[in-house]
Amino acid sequence: MKCLKCLKEDGKSQSLSLPLELEHINKYTICDKCDDTGEYASKYYHKHRVHYKELHEEYKDKLTDSYVANCFADKTIFKAKDVPKDIIKAKRQYMRMKKTLKENIE
Ligand SMILES: [Zn+2]
Repeated sequence: MKCLKCLKEDGKSQSLSLPLELEHINKYTICDKCDDTGEYASKYYHKHRVHYKELHEEYKDKLTDSYVANCFADKTIFKAKDVPKDIIKAKRQYMRMKKTLKENIE
């Protein structure tokens, strides 16, 4: 496939089943060297870090279902949407307890 940015051929092929009008897309890719989405995301994050920090503080304060479910699912095979409500409740209690303990120790 040909990289759309550096125009180098990588010798690999891809066979997505695309409609006839879009079949030419199968010839193109963005190679690993040219793929800067991670770098872009990192720069964007650093540029807006104050906003993200405030947002995170808010999440930690409110402990919404989705935030707690994401914390539970993080680094596991579970997806946040598959975490049962009772587990979310228990995890929230645990997180609150840990926060209280931390605040009282410091
Ligand atoms: Zn490239």
